[in-house]
Amino acid sequence: MITAATRLVALLGNPVGHSLSPVMHNAAFGERDIDMCYLAFEVNIQELGKAIEGLKCLGAVGANITVPFKERALLYMDSLDPEADAVGAVNTVVFKGKHAFGHNTDINGVEETLRLFSVSRKSALLLGAGGAARAAACALGKDGWDRIWVSNRHHKRAEQLVDDLARICNTPFAGAIPWGERPPEPCPLVVNATSLGLDGAEWPEGLPKKILSDGNVEGVLDLVYTPGAATPLVEAAIKRGIPAVGGEEVLLRQGAAAFSLFTGMEAPVERMRDSMKDWTTRNERG
Ligand code: NDP
Repeated sequence: MITAATRLVALLGNPVGHSLSPVMHNAAFGERDIDMCYLAFEVNIQELGKAIEGLKCLGAVGANITVPFKERALLYMDSLDPEADAVGAVNTVVFKGKHAFGHNTDINGVEETLRLFSVSRKSALLLGAGGAARAAACALGKDGWDRIWVSNRHHKRAEQLVDDLARICNTPFAGAIPWGERPPEPCPLVVNATSLGLDGAEWPEGLPKKILSDGNVEGVLDLVYTPGAATPLVEAAIKRGIPAVGGEEVLLRQGAAAFSLFTGMEAPVERMRDSMKDWTTRNERG
């Protein structure tokens, strides 16, 4: 029950209407009997700072920050977790009085999801160079991957990512390769951190096939999440018998890490997973 004592956790983004975060966090609060309520707010880019200040004034426990504000949110933090600082993006904020602490639990989400893969050597091809790719690169480094090749449509961004994260996180990069090329050595894991596969962003003709058909790919992690359906990359991998995991697992695990930051408690991961599945099934039925 929401009472005068209930504390607020917010999601700030634009758009936010599709987000599963309110569903999984409210289910988790219920499961752990925590008197908090999670609400989503669609915010204009010019008002992000005011929204964060407003949450401080309202005594909110914390917030998640989603697309397209994860990088801009850095401007409004009073302090930053070193990994969020290195990646240059914040997706979770914890308020202590008027102090905003910025974290990046996408890193935790990818790092934990990587443990689902069992491959013959720890080399990976990372597609993308935006905020998600930077979090994924940091996670691959933390998870002990030896060699990471990066490929991005705008090559300069891939080179920048390699430079930044090698310097700040000691991520073991092998190098940046032109968009659409295969790495010059076998990379058993492919991580997609581009937005390709989302509505309106289609893979270039033949690219998933080119990436997946060299016989060396043993696992695919696609950060893109399309509720109720496999992403095109996951579908293409499964068709070739390659184990593949979609972005829902990363979403769940970044949410679980954020829950722990908000509450100081371990997240009820299976309850959160079930709540997302139930919501997706109900929506599919209309
Ligand atoms: P950004 O906008 O920061 O980066 C977008 C990336 O996609 C860039 O590398 C961009 O390349 C690439 N890209 C976009 N359109 C195309 C195209 N037509 N052809 C080739 N490359 C393209 O977004 P984020 O990094 O924040 O997010 C990327 C994806 O990861 C999103 O789909 C997001 O939903 C997902 N994500 C999922 C999470 C989860 O929990 N499952 C967590 C975080 C993100 P370029 O630099 O050349 O423009």
